[in-house]
Amino acid sequence: MENSTDTPMAKGKATSGLIFNEKFLWEMSRGGRCGISLPEQDVDISPLEEGLTGDAPDLPQLSELDVVRHYTRLSQWNFGVDSGMYPLGSCTMKYNPKTNEVQAALPGFTGAHPLLDEDLCQGSLELIYNLEQYLCEITGMDAATLQPAAGAHGELAGMLVIHAFHAKKGHQRSKIIIPDTAHGTNPASATLCGYESINVQSGPDGILTPEAVEAVMDEETAGIMITNPNTLGLFEENIKKIAEIVHSRGGLVYGDGANMNAVMGIFKPGEIGIDVIHLNLHKTFSTPHGGGGPGSGPIAVVKELEPFLPAPRVEKRDGVFTLVDDRPDTLGRMLTFHGHFGIMVRAYSYILSLGDKGLTNVSKLAVLNANYIKECLKEHLHLPYDRPCMHECVFTDKNQAEYGVTTLDMAKRLMDYGFHPPTVYFPLVVHGAIMVEPTESESKETIDQFMEAFKAVVKEAKENPEILKSAPHLPKLSRLDEVSAARKPVLRY
Ligand SMILES: *Cc1c(COP(=O)(O)O)cnc(C)c1O
Repeated sequence: MENSTDTPMAKGKATSGLIFNEKFLWEMSRGGRCGISLPEQDVDISPLEEGLTGDAPDLPQLSELDVVRHYTRLSQWNFGVDSGMYPLGSCTMKYNPKTNEVQAALPGFTGAHPLLDEDLCQGSLELIYNLEQYLCEITGMDAATLQPAAGAHGELAGMLVIHAFHAKKGHQRSKIIIPDTAHGTNPASATLCGYESINVQSGPDGILTPEAVEAVMDEETAGIMITNPNTLGLFEENIKKIAEIVHSRGGLVYGDGANMNAVMGIFKPGEIGIDVIHLNLHKTFSTPHGGGGPGSGPIAVVKELEPFLPAPRVEKRDGVFTLVDDRPDTLGRMLTFHGHFGIMVRAYSYILSLGDKGLTNVSKLAVLNANYIKECLKEHLHLPYDRPCMHECVFTDKNQAEYGVTTLDMAKRLMDYGFHPPTVYFPLVVHGAIMVEPTESESKETIDQFMEAFKAVVKEAKENPEILKSAPHLPKLSRLDEVSAARKPVLRY
């Protein structure tokens, strides 16, 4: 690792000392070393059952301290929202309050088996029931399900609802309208349902126009999937008009609500013509995510679509919470059991600890922080859509092109200043996109530090582009060969 004295970290912003290389557990293994001591055996040895015999697994032999240090060191190589600002656009990497973890770890929740009899898990069923009600309140919809396992899975559930709706009407349709500012998972979900995606372009100010929808919406089109706020971080101001056009030709409006963090308490999708929406509990409602862990992508629908929701549903009958499977129009199950319960507990805890005013403030602050960054950095980075944004803003590398510096170079260099890079090259509608989502949980001081770092990188792009081309210099590993990593992954040591 290079560590010259003129690097930003050496100037006192951060240090990279005392970070060790780490061997594999198998390399550290020494025969006979052991991290546990069991009492003397005082029963007769009996042979293992058939099928459990054979060679013992090749487990490394290590002391307790070997194991503790190994995993502690690995954890120190990691970067997470608990270690610094994580301004990854489209991901809402907000701070996750620790009280949510405490509630999710309560033994009554962690010990509840999903096959328990209803009378033994009334508390868990009540939580599911109440959380569905809260999400309906937040979105302005009539019914919700918590089964889908992630945002994209929620989209699939929502598309299946739309599919079931048209099937029930007796005329299945073949197409879905998807604007170029929709999230990339949208066309994938529509395709999985057998629909053809009809791409429409957003207007000159980055939002969809009613005319563009009017031109393609017909009686063979099942509906539209619209991400609002869209992936440019802009509010789709024409949504009401667009919903009217789609409805007037028998279609339904799917709202991708993964960006609900920008509009809680301010805008209710159900009130302006959205029929189905998914939320990302693991973004807006504070669950640690990234790295492929479990998610939760509930969908909420208008009354007319409630019969199609996945079964079973939790209902309240005479004060008792009960699982109802007998639903003739249901699209079936989206997941084993009831969804990712631990994430529901975290979301429930988050909603209850903030309340309605608190959630509204979350959105106001998320929008304020993003607009602050947009206004302060727009002299330094090209801003393709110069208008008020929602919870994230999108810049490009256009101003740096003359120095041969790209979005990727600047993102990598930011790491030398101690910041996780923003999202790069997304959304696809913007060439060389740099998408910054600060979230509400960052302080002004931290945001100012981030912008100072970004300005320093922009200055270097002009004065010393070479240092960006080979960045990052300070993290444990320098620039990786991402093409080889994707094409020839080494998955086994
Ligand atoms: C994150 C995101 C999704 C996908 O959610 P996953 O949980 O990653 O499947 C969909 N739409 C938008 C707008 C998103 O930001």
